[in-house]
Amino acid sequence: MENPVKVFKFGGASVKDVESIKHLENILSSFREDSIVMVISAIGKTTNALEEVVHAHAQQTGNAIEKLEAIKQYHYQIAEALCGVDEELFASINDTFVEIDWVLEEDPEENFDYMYDQIVSVGELLSTRIVAAFLKKMDFPIEWMDARDIIRTDNIYREGWVQWDETVNKARKVMLPILESGKWIVSQGFIGSTSENFTTTLGREGSDYTAAIFAYCIGAESVTIWKDVPGVLNADPRYFENALLLNQISYREAIELAFYGASVIHPKTLQPLQ
Ligand code: ADP
Ligand code: ASP
Ligand code: MG
Repeated sequence: MENPVKVFKFGGASVKDVESIKHLENILSSFREDSIVMVISAIGKTTNALEEVVHAHAQQTGNAIEKLEAIKQYHYQIAEALCGVDEELFASINDTFVEIDWVLEEDPEENFDYMYDQIVSVGELLSTRIVAAFLKKMDFPIEWMDARDIIRTDNIYREGWVQWDETVNKARKVMLPILESGKWIVSQGFIGSTSENFTTTLGREGSDYTAAIFAYCIGAESVTIWKDVPGVLNADPRYFENALLLNQISYREAIELAFYGASVIHPKTLQPLQ
């Protein structure tokens, strides 16, 4: 089954600040007639900042709350710059942070990886709330979706393994009716949940993988990973000035590139697409 649905993934760099998020409007304007699922990463380097909160709490260094405060301010500023004082958006951001406030009020969890996922997953929940609110304001037909209601994993925190049968069923049941009603879906990369509804993450840089998971589950026609480069190059342009654009590569070559560390695509992404 192939659905004429396009899956677009925007990484942290593509939503790193107010200007970058505004730029999404330009990109998406050419697709107003299409059916789109958007997968979005945490804003800029938020995941790294949240990792610092986790370490500070685990080691009881005393500054976890202060570190979280800086992340809160940053997100509220971006939200306000994009949407003004949008009470619904502010309430959703606040509710998202409250979950971490509770974790930080308690002694650190013995299971570090579990605690890590409960805290770090918030980056994607926040970015999607903000981007969804902004795009709605720009008159795109947006529905925010919690990826944890779709992507079911095992209990391996920080490297959740997708339970495919359940994930496919949930994706079809929830996502297809939204798309059929003419709405676009905005959802989080990187996160899933266990059968007990605890949040898991799929491994660092895992948002590309989420895009591929959704695409596979609903039989989308394509996945586009929007980046700050013109496409897949034959080398990382940060290190090689004359890197060349590859107009086409096979799955096999892409898997090799990713496997040998080309950070442009997460290695797990190719298999569901293939
Ligand atoms: P995201 O915002 O999606 O997380 P990344 O910063 O992880 O994006 O990936 C984009 C970066 O990947 C580019 O800026 C580039 O420096 C790097 N990169 C590494 N290898 C390649 C390659 N083979 N082709 C293109 N870009 C590459
Ligand atoms: N935000 C997560 C990370 O930085 C996932 C991703 O960006 O793909 O690892
Ligand atoms: Mg990234």
